[in-house]
Amino acid sequence: MAHGLACVERLRAEGVVEDRDIRRTVDAVMSCCGVSRLRAYRLAHGWTLKDAVDVLIKLCDEGDIVRPKLDADQLGH
Ligand SMILES: [Zn+2]
Repeated sequence: MAHGLACVERLRAEGVVEDRDIRRTVDAVMSCCGVSRLRAYRLAHGWTLKDAVDVLIKLCDEGDIVRPKLDADQLGH
């Protein structure tokens, strides 16, 4: 990542102060830090790679969808 977590923390804090929709924070992280939408979404939520995998597995289980073969290392690529 070009900018680092301090940058993401600043954008997240601005989003909270301005009561922004999370999607606007995702867009801000993408354009500021030059990361993919998937990564920006994860960072905007403050999720670690493991958190993101846990959320995905939970969603699959709740939606009765077959879990993808995915771990934190794969998501980080
Ligand atoms: Zn940035």
